Parts: sequence; structure tokens; C-alpha cells
Amino acid sequence: STGWFQCEVSYALCPPVHAGALELEEGTTMTTQRIRDFLATRRPDGPCLVVDLDVIRENFHAFRHAMPDSAIYYAVKANPAPEVLKLLAGLGSNFDCASVAEIEMALEAGATAARISYGNTIKKERDVARAHALGVSLFAVDSHEEVEKISRAAPGARVFCRVLTDGEGAEWPLSRKFGCVPQMAVDVLVYAHQLGLQSYGVSFHVGSQMTKVDAWDSALADAKRVFVQLAKQGIHLQMVNMGGGFPTRYLRDVPSAEAYGKSIYQALRTHFGNQIPQTIIEPGRGMVGNAGVIKAEVVLISKKSDNDDARWVFLDIGKFGGLAETMDEAIRYPIRTERDGDEMEPCVIAGPTCDSADVLYEKNLYPLPLSLTIGDEVLIEGTGAYTTTYSAVAFNGFEPLKAYVI
Ligand code: PLP
Repeated sequence: STGWFQCEVSYALCPPVHAGALELEEGTTMTTQRIRDFLATRRPDGPCLVVDLDVIRENFHAFRHAMPDSAIYYAVKANPAPEVLKLLAGLGSNFDCASVAEIEMALEAGATAARISYGNTIKKERDVARAHALGVSLFAVDSHEEVEKISRAAPGARVFCRVLTDGEGAEWPLSRKFGCVPQMAVDVLVYAHQLGLQSYGVSFHVGSQMTKVDAWDSALADAKRVFVQLAKQGIHLQMVNMGGGFPTRYLRDVPSAEAYGKSIYQALRTHFGNQIPQTIIEPGRGMVGNAGVIKAEVVLISKKSDNDDARWVFLDIGKFGGLAETMDEAIRYPIRTERDGDEMEPCVIAGPTCDSADVLYEKNLYPLPLSLTIGDEVLIEGTGAYTTTYSAVAFNGFEPLKAYVI
């Protein structure tokens, strides 16, 4: 992910950013001084993501401090850059992986197989076998069929069953694709036990960018019911995987990791009393989102008629270049410009490709400075998670998003 080849050339072409010029309000910008300094001297011609490892380190410590009794399994899908994985492996993180490729990346970064969970409920049997051969022994399921695959390809492994949540309050909900109803989770875990697997626990994901700190409560109530039903059949579960969902600050403030920790601990006490099982959290967005900033450029500003409808601002990055989470305008990134402070005007923002779906914000117009001009640089903040991995390989001939880790 780290490529420096165009740096000298682009430095010669682009004037440096003036420190502080891109700040909207004191204290709200997520562009760290290190990212600013980096962009001031070394800039490729196209859009690029710059990730500051110091921010990720701080996030890791904040999670550990807020939820000291929960094991952290970083969701690799959020940002699998080798430098990020290596940092987190060194800090003692475990890893939630969605594929054999992600498992290999986590191992490469220094994690042992014992610190890896194969958390995708949809796996090919040969991938289960491959993960098992690599030493992974913890697998997610949400169906009888998946249990059968694991019993054949990873005999004796530990499994946890994912239950559905309603995703209410999440800006990027994940269910119904993953999980089953709690009663079915009971059946699935009994079946796993019968097939010689270790029925180990229950998991859920409250939905990504969950801004309600109490969203874990009802899912933990469901988890407890599954524990009780299985105990009646002599199967004693040991673990609750409470997933991700911890938010990144985009345009609005979000509660702190500590506030989530307190609320989750309260819910665990309410439902499990003095017998709180082992718990896991799988932060993705909350671990890396605020560590990244994308530098992009204004390619065109135009209107669709002479009447005073909104101006269209076309950037050199769009939905297919890494900003896929603007789908349905779900995630609204902070966009900083060198002209912040000037009079603002609501605009449509679109990407550069010839696909009409490549519009970032249109239903809800986005305020940008009236003085914004073709060729201006913009900084798109909060883009450390779910960007590089969504970037298409040369759709319309645009290069995939470059990434620098500093
Ligand atoms: N765990 C699992 C199983 C997931 O599927 C995801 C995201 O899709 C995560 C954790 C990370 O979620 P978030 O980025 O909301 O923290």
C-alpha cells in the first residue's frame, strides 16, 4: 500500500498546503498535523488516502481502556494495510477475518492463528479447510449448512452462532444478511455439538456506525436467552462476540469509546448478572476511520441549467474510487477545502466516472464554499475505514485509490 514513486514529481507541480488553511473550526478537523505535513511535501497526482498510525494506536488504547475485560478482534476488512495490521498485532490485538486472504494477512502481520477468528458466516468448505490447516479454530456460523461444512473441514473447532439484530440507530446497518433468529441459533449450536464441534458462543453486530450507546442491550438479552436454552441441554457456552458498530466522527460528534464501554458493561450486568462470559469486540470503523484523510481534487464545477439550481462539483474520486459508503448517502464525510470560511452554498457532489450512479451527495445537498474553483484540493476526512478496499481496479481507467501509511 505504500508507494512513493510519484512524490517528487507531484511536489514540483503542486504548491504546499498552508498549515491550518483547511481547518473549519478549531478542534474539529481530523487532519492531523502529520498528515498535513506529509501532503505538503509528497503528493501523487491522483486522489490518495493518508493514514496516521498514531491515531490508530490511540483508538486501540481507548477501546482497551473502555472495555478492559473484552478481547479486541480488529475487523481486518475495515483497512487491511500491512502497516495497520502490524501495528495492531504488536499492540496485542486479535483479528476478525472474513476470508482466507485476510487470515493470511493477519498471520503475515505477526498474529498467531490462536488470535484469529474466521468471522464470516458464508464460507466455502475448502476455505474452512484452508483456515483449519493454518491453525484457525474459531468460526462463525448462522445456519445448519455452515455447521456441517465446519464439522467436515475443521473437526472439533469452536463455533459461535450469529443472531440477527434490528440495526436500528446504525447509519450502515448489516442485518438481515447475517445471523438467524435466537431460537434458530439454539438449534444450530445444538446441532454443532452433535456433530462434534465445540459450541462456544453467540455473536451479533448491532450495525455499523451505531450512534446509540444502548444498542447492545437487546442483543445481549437475546444472547443470554440462547445461553440459558443451551444450558438446559447441558451445553455451556463461554463467549459473547459483541461485534463492531463503534462509530467514527463524521460531521457530527459521536459518543466516546468510554460511553459505549459503560453502557455495554451495564447491559452485561443486567442480563448475565455475576456470570458474565468471555466477551469479544470487533471494532473496524471505530479503530481506523478517523485515522485517514483522502486528498482529492475538484475536476469540474458546472450547472445543469442557467436557472439557479445547485452547482455540481465533480471530484477526482467517487463511489468507485473508494467512497462506496456514500451509497444512499449513508455516510456523510467531512470535506475540507482551502476556502473554508468563505460563503457556503449547497452543492451536488459527484465522482469522475461515466457511471450515473457515481454521485455522492444529491438528495441532501452538501455545503461547499461559493468560491471553490476547478483545480482546488479538498480533504475528505474520516476515510481510514472502508475506502481502499472498496476502490475498483481501474474502473473507467482510473487507478485504484493510492494509500500511504505514516
Ligand atoms: N465484525 C463483523 C463480523 C463484521 O461484518 C464487521 C463489519 O462488517 C465488523 C465486525 C466491523 O464493524 P464496524 O466497522 O462497524 O466496527
